[in-house]
Amino acid sequence: MTTSDLKQQATATMMNAYSPYSNFKVGAAIQTAAGNIYSGCNVENISYGLSICAERNAIMQAVAAEGPAMKLAAVVVTNYNQNGESGACSPCGACRQFMIEFATPDTTVTYPGEHGDIETTADKLLPDSFSF
Ligand SMILES: [Zn+2]
Repeated sequence: MTTSDLKQQATATMMNAYSPYSNFKVGAAIQTAAGNIYSGCNVENISYGLSICAERNAIMQAVAAEGPAMKLAAVVVTNYNQNGESGACSPCGACRQFMIEFATPDTTVTYPGEHGDIETTADKLLPDSFSF
């Protein structure tokens, strides 16, 4: 599946976001090393700290389906604000750490930048990530 295909999947899932507090919908689609596709959207909560991002939602589904050996091949993120516009927004710190847990040195991450999509790697998004 291409990055464009993953972006379409992320966008479709994004439309199911539950974001009444931020009015900011986010979708993520991932392809695993096994070749399967999973997607997620942000799900907010009135107790804000309980909200979950689209990226972590998608990764949790992949682990639930494939088990703890699941590895990420690609992550694509999209967003949509209350004005119906996509804007530059990189994955949050929590999602970066979550991605690293299942990433390889080749895992790509694509997200909206100021001048179009940015494609990088999970390692570059979170250098010197937490580990013990
Ligand atoms: Zn996040």
